Amino acid sequence: MSKLEDIVSLCKRRGFIFPGSAVYDGMAGTWDFGPLGVALKRNIMNAWWGYWVDQRDDMYGVDAAIIMNPRTWEASGHVATFADPLVECKECHGRFRADKLVEGATESITTDEFLQADVKCPTCGKQDWSEIRKFNMMFQTHVGPIEDDEHVAYLRPETAQGIFTNFRNVVDTIYPDLPFGLAQQGKAFRNEISPRDFILRDRECSQMEIEYFVRPEDWEKQFEQLRAGQHDFLENVIGLPAEMIHELEVPEEDRAHYSKRTIDFMFDYPNGEEELMGLAYRTDFDLSNIQRESGKSMEYRDKMTGESFVPHVIEPSIGVERLFLAVLSSAYCEEESRVVLRLPENLAPYRYCVSPLLKNKPELVEKAREVYELLKSKYTFVTWDDSGNIGKRYKKQDEIGTPKCVVVDFEGLENGTVTVRDRDTTEQVRVKIEEL
Ligand SMILES: [Zn+2]
Repeated sequence: MSKLEDIVSLCKRRGFIFPGSAVYDGMAGTWDFGPLGVALKRNIMNAWWGYWVDQRDDMYGVDAAIIMNPRTWEASGHVATFADPLVECKECHGRFRADKLVEGATESITTDEFLQADVKCPTCGKQDWSEIRKFNMMFQTHVGPIEDDEHVAYLRPETAQGIFTNFRNVVDTIYPDLPFGLAQQGKAFRNEISPRDFILRDRECSQMEIEYFVRPEDWEKQFEQLRAGQHDFLENVIGLPAEMIHELEVPEEDRAHYSKRTIDFMFDYPNGEEELMGLAYRTDFDLSNIQRESGKSMEYRDKMTGESFVPHVIEPSIGVERLFLAVLSSAYCEEESRVVLRLPENLAPYRYCVSPLLKNKPELVEKAREVYELLKSKYTFVTWDDSGNIGKRYKKQDEIGTPKCVVVDFEGLENGTVTVRDRDTTEQVRVKIEEL
């Protein structure tokens, strides 16, 4: 098994992530988070919110509706350009992204360029292709009971537009000084043709995005500050090893239609280097489009000088699932006698596991319960485990990344101590209960 398969298997076995709708034979490109996955995911999302919003004076939160007026996606360019170049094999009717079958190709590949590349169908090996067709990746639905063009709506393909469309509301209600940022966490949907690589390329994902509004002449300085902040967050708050993160300056022909500069932060995932997050300078593209489409002013008026202008925007954007998998794959370790998730303490689903040495000795159970209640009131993320023998419990807690296992034994009953086992070193020390 590859390392990614090992991680997928651990996630299923220990209740982090299950294949979506598994009871009905699954639903491609969807995944469900189980009890431990939810805990880890929330800890990651809260760490992000704490770092970027709560601890700063220049960031504010919004939480916009997922279904937005479809004019949003016309103004943003998604209706016209959020599309993949698809080819179909006339033999087996398999559909593929043309740009993924030709080495070095971009999304703007033409049918001629594709045919010249002499590609064989990955499924049946034949070479009989359709023209390239653009396939829009937005999920379409209808609002209300009438299914006609007038009532078309989309599940949002990015959270960013929910921020831009609230720019005016926020400026007019809390009067923030420039530069300032609006942050949002929430689901976004993409009708991926070929979902793959576990949660890396799925059809719905949770995004964490900031739109940071700046003076046009300040964008380079602010871009550099946000870039440094991303490294600080990923390495010092989330605990990803710096050497597994690589910056990729995205060349102009590969950048999204709105961006003047983009750096992709790449990560060494088990199956190779993949995008972890993006940092993009979106200029005034979005606010100016909204201003034109809505007829409402998106200008910011400087309180000191009275000068009015449409702010420019820098956008750090990160997918929760991508970050989740980066955390798991850098924490996952197979050792001779065990599998261990070396999760940072602030992200681990549980900080402590408490158990009695033996579960059939009421005096041990009673004392262990006391210790459990004490730790729970102090640290919240504490679990109880009296299943199997102590070795099995350690094995399980190692696999779910619990940093410390606390055990109440007979010696402890006499002198008010417990043993504390460290996940990473497996060493045990005896500690007074009041010193936990
Ligand atoms: Zn084929």
